[in-house]
Amino acid sequence: MSTANSALALPGAQEHIHSLLPADQLPPYEPGPLPQGYTWREEKVYWHGHPGTDDQGNQEEVNSFTVDFVYPGRRVVQGTWPASRPEFCEVFSGPGQRLADSQGEVLICPGCGLDCG
Ligand SMILES: [Zn+2]
Repeated sequence: MSTANSALALPGAQEHIHSLLPADQLPPYEPGPLPQGYTWREEKVYWHGHPGTDDQGNQEEVNSFTVDFVYPGRRVVQGTWPASRPEFCEVFSGPGQRLADSQGEVLICPGCGLDCG
């Protein structure tokens, strides 16, 4: 089973996606230009952050209290990040990481490379 499929198998994941990502009702997201040498991953991002476990050690559901909403169209900058995907990221707060040069600029999550500008 791939990492992406594991994330989507979390309890409540499918319901969460459908309730928070009515992509056909939202204007498309158009990212700005990236700095030279950087590219986007093409994989769709479903949410940001990995829910923890409850007091009994059971996996918590994916919902608006346990993960962060990600606007449809936001993607990950190619690179080697601590988390393989935003759905597994453990960075929930703190400063972003700014990538910039004369060609472009983007603010990313240092835990997973997600465009969070
Ligand atoms: Zn992240």
